[in-house]
Amino acid sequence: MALIRNSKLRPRILIVGGGYLGLVTAQNLLKNLGRGEATVTVIDPNPYMTYQPFLPEVAAGSIEPRHAVVPLRRNLPGAEVITAKVTSINHADKYVVVEPENDEAFELDYDHIILASGSVARVLPIPGVKENAIGLKRIEEAVALRDHLLTRVADASLMEDDEERRKALTFVFVGGGFAGIEALTELEDVVRSAVAQYETLTDADVRFVLVEAMDRVMPEVGEAQARWVVEHMRERGIDVYLETFLEDCTDKHIKLSNGEEFDADTIVWSAGVKANPILIDSDLPIDERGRVTVRADLRVEGEDGVVDGAWAAGDNAAVPDLSGGGVGGYCVPNAQHAVRQAPVLAANVLAALRGETEFKQYFHKTIGSVAGLGLYKGVSQMGDFEVRGVLAWLMHRAYHGYAIPSLDRKVKVFGNWILNAVLGRDTMPLVDLDVPRKNFVEAATSKPAPQKKKEPANA
Ligand SMILES: Cc1cc2nc3c(=O)[nH]c(=O)nc-3n(C[C@H](O)[C@H](O)[C@H](O)COP(=O)(O)OP(=O)(O)OC[C@H]3O[C@@H](n4cnc5c(N)ncnc54)[C@H](O)[C@@H]3O)c2cc1C
Repeated sequence: MALIRNSKLRPRILIVGGGYLGLVTAQNLLKNLGRGEATVTVIDPNPYMTYQPFLPEVAAGSIEPRHAVVPLRRNLPGAEVITAKVTSINHADKYVVVEPENDEAFELDYDHIILASGSVARVLPIPGVKENAIGLKRIEEAVALRDHLLTRVADASLMEDDEERRKALTFVFVGGGFAGIEALTELEDVVRSAVAQYETLTDADVRFVLVEAMDRVMPEVGEAQARWVVEHMRERGIDVYLETFLEDCTDKHIKLSNGEEFDADTIVWSAGVKANPILIDSDLPIDERGRVTVRADLRVEGEDGVVDGAWAAGDNAAVPDLSGGGVGGYCVPNAQHAVRQAPVLAANVLAALRGETEFKQYFHKTIGSVAGLGLYKGVSQMGDFEVRGVLAWLMHRAYHGYAIPSLDRKVKVFGNWILNAVLGRDTMPLVDLDVPRKNFVEAATSKPAPQKKKEPANA
């Protein structure tokens, strides 16, 4: 393993993860660091930050995939951006092991580490889930989901067997949190638009199912709004099963805890997140949910006190919620917190770098939430102010269009929306993205045309 330890000329602030927290923290650091004061290094397996709140709209085709991701290099001039995975954190000796996808692993040292590696899907060990379900945390999943659903519609339009067609057009979503509901409703909307274009299909052929273990959906909104969302979904013909578990989906045969069984070609898993498992093998303190434990000033803290040079926030940290509104006393894992924690984190790391001992405390009282439920439909809760329908949908778009980092992406996202509103929704899938050489290989192995015998010129 190549060793890049002790190779730096100035202190290194290493950010593990260039997602929402990592990108915005790095931007704040770069803005405030003096010339030559420190090197900011951002490591992420993706060369871009994914704006996850847009994944449902990418899956629905309202936003182009590349417009929902923010390129790290372009938006972090002056930073060292490494496209690779951190596979091990050794804080006692202050170095990480970095593994590029197609190159040798190496060690990289640092003075301060910021853990911004986010969360991963919390997948339960239910038979068939690992083999058959898809999550919605990455842009690639959103793209694949869109193409898969719309391809199933196209395939179903040619199916004569009722059972086969029903299976192709049954879409099961597990998890009724914000992400699951947004994904389900956006995709239901686009599938219905697609189905309308096929003479051989009707709305009755399509079945969308939500399976939620709790007795309500969307814990982020009040009870009344959550009840309205369920009614709204049922009015749209979506089967909403509350207090119900997915028990098995082996071979895409669904078994629910209410005794119902059916086949479904699409299973989307959106039943919550857990802290990035990379932290489990690090030598940093974590809680029983795998999150790095931090103080309100975002310094990592274990049983023996503050861990010098280690910082964390976002989805991979248990950040105390000083507003008193969090679950179990901690900030819930959402973008609203991550983006606000970033400037506090940057300011405190800078203070530590400069030898200061006073640190800012992170305090944010949740303003509320907005969610899109498909075109022109939404739900929102701002304190006691509850909004439903078109206005909530507009609020959702206005907020997230503004919140996606970089002017370039904001313009592109609004451009997408305006063009789609004028030109209409695109319901066409791209096919064979996973086998792009298929046609070329077929052409290369196809039979040559039979050679015609040449007739003599003056026969
Ligand atoms: C579908 C969906 C919809 C959502 N909608 C909303 C919403 O409407 N409002 C809201 O507030 N929140 C929403 N969220 C949640 C929000 O996106 C997250 O809370 C937020 O992105 C957390 O920021 P983060 O920086 O902690 O993690 P992330 O943004 O997930 O960033 C983590 C980064 O770490 C990188 N990484 C992972 N492992 C490694 C490794 N080993 N080495 C190096 N890098 C690594 C990842 O590639 C990623 O770039 C949504 C999430 C999803 C999935």
